[in-house]
Amino acid sequence: MKKALLLSLLLVLLISCSEPIRQDRLVMGTNCSVSVFSKSDEKEIQSCFEILSEIEKRISAKLVDSEIGEINSAAGKNSVKVSRETFDLVKRSLELKELTEGAFNPLLGKITSLWNIGSGDEIVPDKQTIDNLVHHLEIGAIALDEDNLTVYLSDENTALDLGAIGKGYASDVVSSYLKEKGIKKALINLGGNVYAIGKKGKDKNWKIGIRNPEGNGLFTTVEIDEGAVITSGSYERYFISDGVRYHHIMDPSTGYPANNDLVSVTIIGRDACLADALSTAVFVLGEEKGIKLLEKLGIRGILLTEDGRTVNV
Ligand code: AMP
Ligand code: MG
Repeated sequence: MKKALLLSLLLVLLISCSEPIRQDRLVMGTNCSVSVFSKSDEKEIQSCFEILSEIEKRISAKLVDSEIGEINSAAGKNSVKVSRETFDLVKRSLELKELTEGAFNPLLGKITSLWNIGSGDEIVPDKQTIDNLVHHLEIGAIALDEDNLTVYLSDENTALDLGAIGKGYASDVVSSYLKEKGIKKALINLGGNVYAIGKKGKDKNWKIGIRNPEGNGLFTTVEIDEGAVITSGSYERYFISDGVRYHHIMDPSTGYPANNDLVSVTIIGRDACLADALSTAVFVLGEEKGIKLLEKLGIRGILLTEDGRTVNV
């Protein structure tokens, strides 16, 4: 039930395409689709799904035998050698943590697995345990060795979770692949996070609608020529306990779901990994600080507030 709700809520309506050739698969824990617009490009769609599965197997913190799973299992014990791609992504995640002043924090894997939001059998964790993990998050260290491509988590009470940039990263990789293959026009939709390649048509932008989280229809549409439209919302994954709603976007300074009057944050830009980190970070920062960060970086965003306002940055 929750899954069906999630899928329907995550679905960004594409109100743009002229006769797309589209395939859908369940990958990275969500419904993904790839659309191309020329019969000769269709053969590349299968490769896109293979790339997405490979990424999931490599970076999912939920899979113990992924590279991230291995780094987490070795926390406090030893370093782990990883692929160049995973090394670069971990390194980027730490740069994004700095850029967002820790609002996006890839080291909070112990906290996200403690809450386990989306699992279906969530309970509110004990406050003492949360406080303790937040303390470790502040002092926890990670060492990267560029020459040997190793990653070491020195504190066994921290773990990597790249869930907040995984889909953005994956859409960057898949869109680069399609562009290398000479594809001029395509749409990649990973659980509602869209990457558009090329223009919709001559002098025509893509119009991507974002569904209203609390009802039917759209709360707004976004026009882009090329790039990513990525949304983080408190409605995407959550559970209710004693009448309180607990969603999946955590404030790293408290270890609890970020609580700041936002319902969703959509980021628009060419760099999907950055957009994904920022969708999460701006949600955590809240309206005022989130707007400041986007203005400083010169990045487009749309914030939907709990009192029904739409803020365009
Ligand atoms: P997103 O939907 O992109 O906002 O990503 C949310 C996912 O990222 C969650 O399900 C967690 O796995 C992880 N996450 C939650 N809060 C944070 C945070 N503040 N920083 C980094 N990752 C987070
Ligand atoms: Mg994100």
